[in-house]
Amino acid sequence: MPKLIILGSSTNIPDEHHENTHMVLVGHDRMILIDGPGNPFVRLRQAGLDEKKLTDIIMTHFHPDHVSGIPLLLMAVGLSGRKENLNIFGNHHCLELMHKLLESYEWGTWHSFSVDFNTIPEKKKHFLVEAAGCKIFTSPVKHFIPTIGLRFEFSQSGKVLAYSSDTAPTQNMVSLAKDADILIHEAAGESPGHSSALQAGEIADKANVKALYLIHYPTGGFDYQILIKEAAQAYRGPIAMAEDFLEFEF
Ligand SMILES: [Zn+2]
Repeated sequence: MPKLIILGSSTNIPDEHHENTHMVLVGHDRMILIDGPGNPFVRLRQAGLDEKKLTDIIMTHFHPDHVSGIPLLLMAVGLSGRKENLNIFGNHHCLELMHKLLESYEWGTWHSFSVDFNTIPEKKKHFLVEAAGCKIFTSPVKHFIPTIGLRFEFSQSGKVLAYSSDTAPTQNMVSLAKDADILIHEAAGESPGHSSALQAGEIADKANVKALYLIHYPTGGFDYQILIKEAAQAYRGPIAMAEDFLEFEF
């Protein structure tokens, strides 16, 4: 059964219990990392996964709290003997800057397996790939730089998961999350490129989702009940915090 594991749930300021936001989708055929801050190689192992099985990386946007660990991950898996190809997906902006970052690290001198870069178009509900037991769709969301949100439609269970990445409230996210079983939505706080927990609740309500998980929230001893109460002002369904290493089965 495909599963999603939260590898990090914090905003850009992590703490010892909350890594920056990223997650991994594990299916029988593919293992797909969604963003990679910090040290994803170690994080995958901490989640009990074998990093050799990683097949794809989807980058939501080029901010360090989402993708800074990807060069390190490529180096570590390469030096541990990987020969298989790896797919990396990102929008044009993110791929171009990741290329520049890898060039700055002179990755030609250490990188040992082939990487396919796949551009995600700036298109609403774009069908990206069918892998890990689901169809994956992307839409542009509303952040400081080009950013994508994601929708996963699982073929066997019929379940649907949506993930906002970093975004201010946007109709694109409502459409992407429409009737989802689970919406994982950011709650960094109200600002031009982010959402408050109340706004995440409003999106969950408009999209008619069955459950809301808040992610990318302030950590470091923050009282999460405040966020849950805030989201509950707009959304009547179940609300929980997406904690590190929480697992969802689909
Ligand atoms: Zn961001």
